[in-house]
Amino acid sequence: MSAPSTENTPVQGGNTANATASAAYDAALQVIAAVEPRVAEATRAELRDQRASLKLIASENYASPAVLLTMGSWFSDKYAEGTVGHRFYAGCQNVDTVEALAAEHARELFGAPYAYAQPHSGIDANLVAFWSILAHRVETPALEKHAVKNVNELSEGDWETLRHELGNQRLLGMSLDAGGHLTHGFRPNISGKMFHQQQYGTDPATGLLDYDAVRAKAKEFRPLVLVAGYSAYPRRVNFAKMREIADEVGATLMVDMAHFAGLVAGKVFTGDEDPVPFAHVTTTTTHKSLRGPRGGLVLAQEEFASSVDRGCPMVLGGPLSHVMAAKAVALAEARQPAFQDYAQQIAGNAKSLAEGFLTRGANLVTSGTDNHIVLLDVSSFGLTGRQAESALLDAGVVTNRNSVPADPNGAWYTSGVRLGTPALTTRGFGHDEFDKVAELIVDVLANTKPGTTKAGGPSKASYVLGDGVADRTKAASAELLDKHPLYPGLELS
Ligand code: PLP
Repeated sequence: MSAPSTENTPVQGGNTANATASAAYDAALQVIAAVEPRVAEATRAELRDQRASLKLIASENYASPAVLLTMGSWFSDKYAEGTVGHRFYAGCQNVDTVEALAAEHARELFGAPYAYAQPHSGIDANLVAFWSILAHRVETPALEKHAVKNVNELSEGDWETLRHELGNQRLLGMSLDAGGHLTHGFRPNISGKMFHQQQYGTDPATGLLDYDAVRAKAKEFRPLVLVAGYSAYPRRVNFAKMREIADEVGATLMVDMAHFAGLVAGKVFTGDEDPVPFAHVTTTTTHKSLRGPRGGLVLAQEEFASSVDRGCPMVLGGPLSHVMAAKAVALAEARQPAFQDYAQQIAGNAKSLAEGFLTRGANLVTSGTDNHIVLLDVSSFGLTGRQAESALLDAGVVTNRNSVPADPNGAWYTSGVRLGTPALTTRGFGHDEFDKVAELIVDVLANTKPGTTKAGGPSKASYVLGDGVADRTKAASAELLDKHPLYPGLELS
């Protein structure tokens, strides 16, 4: 199917709204206010706050009014456990339509043989992927060995043996402090408990992935699942190499592209940098660089399709049909040529942001970026990530603190601040504006001093922001933000 025409769908250079969208929001807020005015007011305040701040959180974006409005519908009321055309509830014909559309757009957009649109979030998508890999690689061969179709047909003894095998598999993922995600085998997460896990890191000298080191670790550990993908690694990954490594050790390659799905969709990552042809199973969120509703998605090679399709009842209950509908709308937007311009701009803007820091003497993990993330090491300012994040927020710059490799301050205080370009690129920020953003951030950090604890000792949390810094930063940000308004045309009464 060809991409539908969304001529009036604003997707590039800021998600513009129009009089129809304004009227829709106004009406919705009036209806909400009649029941719980405080929710209506908080909703208005959220728009005001988002409009007035420099949003640099790498995992956030601004979805279009079409995507947002799609979520506020009666699809929210419908139970639809099962799969398209095969539900455990009656009356799912319209859910079938939107789920099939979301899956079809995802297959076309990413060139994937199979797509599953039900996961409620990125974590759910990863759980579906883990269990589908276990089902395909461990459970199905066991059922075949015992010549039964279903685990319910196994004897108690055989079931216990299978449970033991399912619970004793190995997973190798990227460590949290190298930029991996907590679902990639981090011990406190279920992925670190349901698998025996080990982690690969990055080269201590360069901060870059060292494929030979990953290969050596994989050969030694022999994982069933090799996970690639990241939350805070500012570089591209060669997925052809990761697949080679997986094949050498008989592992299944799972790629979590939650962060960079927009760059894959927008054809910034192509060839060896496009994970979809190389991964057995690819997972993603739909709300980060992909600019859709909050949700997850699983893509798979044909071989894994039937096990992924068992996401419900394996780990999911009823799908969020209203969100699946919004995924269909967002994926339709991402199939428009304008989305490719947007994705290119995200990556180009990240380079400008990184250059802006480097020319002002700041330290970046890996000394730069070639995706949408810039990871600023704030230790040269004498600050922890926590202090930097808080000082920046006081100045109207919204970021999140993040570990840097081998972080001496651990995962709570950290030594880094992670910045991303997808959201402000949606507003229409370009290279000069991102250079200015770097200037503002350096000014705030250079004028922030670590504070002390109540007892007068050194503190990793408190800080003192220089006089007038917050005001001058907010004034300079306001100039940039006014030039690129959020949802221009959206006027609430
Ligand atoms: N995977 C990666 C790589 C992520 O960065 C995140 C979120 O930050 C997730 C999964 C989890 O997504 P969610 O918050 O939707 O569960």
